[in-house]
Amino acid sequence: MTKVLSVFEFQKHFATEDQCFDHLVAVRWPDGFKCPKCNHSGAYIIKARKLFQCKSCKHQTSVTAGTCFHRMRQPLHLLFWAVYLVATNKKGISALELQRKLDIRSYQTAWTLLHKIRSCMTSSGLFLLSGEVEVDETYIDGSRSGPTGRGADNKQLVAVAVEKLGKKMGRSYFQHIQHASKDELGAFVKEHVTKRSSVITDGFPSYKHLKDEYNLDQKKLYSPERARELLPNVHIVITNTKAWLRGTFNRYPAPKHLKRYLNEFEFRFNRRWKLDNIFDKLLNPCL
Ligand SMILES: [Zn+2]
Repeated sequence: MTKVLSVFEFQKHFATEDQCFDHLVAVRWPDGFKCPKCNHSGAYIIKARKLFQCKSCKHQTSVTAGTCFHRMRQPLHLLFWAVYLVATNKKGISALELQRKLDIRSYQTAWTLLHKIRSCMTSSGLFLLSGEVEVDETYIDGSRSGPTGRGADNKQLVAVAVEKLGKKMGRSYFQHIQHASKDELGAFVKEHVTKRSSVITDGFPSYKHLKDEYNLDQKKLYSPERARELLPNVHIVITNTKAWLRGTFNRYPAPKHLKRYLNEFEFRFNRRWKLDNIFDKLLNPCL
């Protein structure tokens, strides 16, 4: 599969439980099944119960044990459809829409399934930003009134870094942080940006110490308009993130779930030009 599977192709590939079972087995154990208890490779397959039973020690292993589908009672083809819809909907999907599209009886089940999939949309951490990187923080929580910006109460603080590739943007990373402190912002930059890269920020003192390891360019912004002018890419990404949260989910997420939503946005943003195999790219980390 080298491109985005159409709905028709997907239905053909994964129409039956057996097809989904075989695909899961191939992805989970590409070199063949190994008993997790005794390492024996021989097993009886009980497809109806999604189980492997070791021929040596009789230990039974579910094909979904230890995956994001662990203990989900839904048929495999429904779980596959959920991954397909989450992966191929450009802007993601709400739990309510997932419930409607897959005819899932309970909203809570759809919500749990969606959150399990979302929790697998994590960055590999293998690709650091380099060259010119814009860094800023923003506050996310449209549900409460009050002051905005640094010093605002009850808002969730998110650090954002975006790589500049000429006039285009490269990858982007997000992190839900507690304080705009030297330690937290410094750790975020050091985790995601290659040393000696150019880091472009505003004049906030918490970034100053980065000058020892980066080519730090702290802009004097004075006004929001000037900020958008001098840090254009990171502001576009922040605006898009907020619009995506409001547009797809109708509201900002609760603080305890924010990290997973940011992971989803990051997953989509960093794969926006590489949609080939997008179903497998999401299914694989689910396993
Ligand atoms: Zn065994």
